[in-house]
Amino acid sequence: MQISKEKLSEYARLIVRTGANVQPGQVVQLSIAVEQHEFAAMITEEAYLAGAKKVNLNWLSDGQNRLHYRYAEESVLSETLPWEKEKLRQMTEDLPVRIFIESEDPDALAGLDPEKLSRVMQSRAAVAKPYRDEIDGRHQWCIAALPSEAWARKCFPGKSDEEAMELLYDAVFRTVRISDGGDAVEAWRAHIGLIEKKSAWLNAQGFTSLHYESGNGTDFTVELIPEAHWEGAGSTNRENGAYYIPNMPTEEIFTSPRAGKCEGTLVAVKPLSWNGQLIEDFSITFSKGKAVSCRAAKGQELLEKMLHMDEGACMLGEVALVPKESPVNRCGFLFYSTLFDENACCHFAVGQGFKEVLPDGEHLNTEEATAAGINDSIIHVDFMVGAEDLSITGFRPDGSSTAIFRNGTWAE
Ligand code: ZN
Repeated sequence: MQISKEKLSEYARLIVRTGANVQPGQVVQLSIAVEQHEFAAMITEEAYLAGAKKVNLNWLSDGQNRLHYRYAEESVLSETLPWEKEKLRQMTEDLPVRIFIESEDPDALAGLDPEKLSRVMQSRAAVAKPYRDEIDGRHQWCIAALPSEAWARKCFPGKSDEEAMELLYDAVFRTVRISDGGDAVEAWRAHIGLIEKKSAWLNAQGFTSLHYESGNGTDFTVELIPEAHWEGAGSTNRENGAYYIPNMPTEEIFTSPRAGKCEGTLVAVKPLSWNGQLIEDFSITFSKGKAVSCRAAKGQELLEKMLHMDEGACMLGEVALVPKESPVNRCGFLFYSTLFDENACCHFAVGQGFKEVLPDGEHLNTEEATAAGINDSIIHVDFMVGAEDLSITGFRPDGSSTAIFRNGTWAE
C-alpha cells in the first residue's frame, strides 16, 4: 500500500503547528500506538522543529492492553502506582503540550468483562482527576488519528486490508482537509473562520433553551446557562495565550447546557462505540435533567452502566451543533471513533461539562463550576442525534424564538 509521504508529513506538520501549536521551549507528550512508530518520528521531528524543549513518548498498544485485562487481577489494574502519580504530578509542573494519535482497533476490548473494565477505568480516572483538573485550560492538546489495519478492517468489512487502509487514509485526509496540491494550513484557516462566525452569531442570540424535534421520535428541550458561550474549533491556553485545535477533525460548535435541566427523549442516529464496545439503535429519556430510562437494541447493559458511572454520568455535559454537510458525514460510513463520528452531525454528551464556556470559567474550581451549572463526572460520552430532518429552535427569556437548524442544517 502506498500512502503518500508528502501527505503524511503535511499531516504531522498540521497536527504540530495548527493543531497543538507547539511553542518554543514547551515539553510535548506524544501518546501513540507502537505500530505507528514512523509517524511518531515525524511528529517528534516536527515538534522539535517548532521549538519543543523535549518530546516525551507514551507508547500505546491494543494487544498489551487486552492481555492486561485478560490476565491481571482487577485490584492490580485499578491501582495507580506511585511512579504513575509522580508522572501525573510532573504534568502539573511541565504543563506539556499533549498530542494523542488515535489508531486503536474499535473492537480491542470486545469480549472482555465490561464490569471489570468500567471499575478499573473508574478508579484510575478518580486518581488522575485532581491532576487533570489542575492542568485544565493551562496546556495545549490535540487529538488526531492515523489508520491502523484493525481499525480499517472494522470500517470496511469485506474489503481487502490494503483497500480498507487506502479508503480509511483517504477519509481521514479528507476530514482534516489535506488534499492533493492543496494547502491544509490555509484550508484550516478558512474552516476555523466559518466556525467562529457561526459561534459569534449564536452567542449574540441570547437563547436560554433549545428545542429539538425529528421524525425518529426525538422531542427534547434543554436549558442553557445564560452566561455560557458557544465555542468551536479552537481554544486558548491561558498560560501562554497559544491558540490550539483540540480535535482534528472538528466541525462542531458546542456549549455546556445547565446540568439537571432538560426534558424529553433523544433518539440516537448512529451507533455509539464506548470502551471498545457498541451500543446501537438507542434512545435516552430525561426527566428533571437526569436520564431516567434508556433503550438500546444492542448494548442495553453497557448503556445503563455508562449512565451510572457516577452521579454526573446521567446528566448532560455538552450540546453540539454540526450541519449534516460535514465531511465526516459525507464520508458516509461509521468510523467507530468518537473523534470522527461526533463531527458527523448534531450531538449531546453525557458526563463532564466544560467550565471554559463560562466567563472566566477556567479559573473556577470544580465546586464553583458545578454551582454555575456545569456537570461534573469522570466520563464524557458523545452520542449523535442529528437526523436528516432535525429541527432546532432557540428560545429567549421573553418567549421569542429563532430557527437554528432546519432539515439537519443551519436554518440560514
Ligand atoms: Zn462534541
